Amino acid sequence: MVITIDGSAGSGKSTAARGLAARLGLPYLDTGAMYRALTAAAIQAGTSLDDQDALAEVTQSIPMAVTCETDATRITLAGEDVTDQLRTLEVSQAVSRIASVPAVRSRLIDMQREIGRQLGDLVTEGRDQGSVVFPEADVKFLIVADAEARARRRYEELCNEGRGNAGEGNEVEGVSFSEVLKNVQDRDAIDARQWAPLLASGVAVHVDTTGLSVEEVIDTLVTHVRRITHTAGA
Ligand code: C5P
Repeated sequence: MVITIDGSAGSGKSTAARGLAARLGLPYLDTGAMYRALTAAAIQAGTSLDDQDALAEVTQSIPMAVTCETDATRITLAGEDVTDQLRTLEVSQAVSRIASVPAVRSRLIDMQREIGRQLGDLVTEGRDQGSVVFPEADVKFLIVADAEARARRRYEELCNEGRGNAGEGNEVEGVSFSEVLKNVQDRDAIDARQWAPLLASGVAVHVDTTGLSVEEVIDTLVTHVRRITHTAGA
């Protein structure tokens, strides 16, 4: 069974996808982490974000391996596990630009389909999983939440990692809430140009996570999966 979970930056789709995968005992593919890994590689190589050819070259030449576990997607670049280095603000600010390079997308889409073929059953999350990568998926979700709520969740994550400011000002080291909100809004603007038509196409179920707890979101997804797969099998 292939389940796709698409949604905008910080909508809670990663948490939802991991939770759903754990409940169903399926491997979990975080496709955003694949884009983030190539972004980290480009930053490390000092590649200009304006140079599409150089971005394509650096991101195509680096060997990448993806391991899907039930609660995590681990990524290695040239043999080094970079999974825990992918959620920095620096990577978040650059990733949409790299994700808009056609050669980058086609490499990652091919890899995602190959992973899907090898695993057979999985929960996969991103922007284009239900529309482009796995149009034949058994269940397709679109996860949404308002921008403020999404930025708040991301900011709390950064604080927990020790990288957010204690207050809401911009004046001390670390990352402020307003920077995180701006990043979410900037990514929305870039992503919307690229993905708005794809996000909704062919999606079976829309879930708004704004006022829901993690458990409530996962319960909602599980209920839909059972209903859809039960109906399909009936
Ligand atoms: O989901 P996450 O926020 O980690 O994704 C990081 C970025 O990767 C997104 O903002 C988007 O630009 C890109 N992305 C994409 N297609 C996907 C997954 C992510 O373009 N399937």
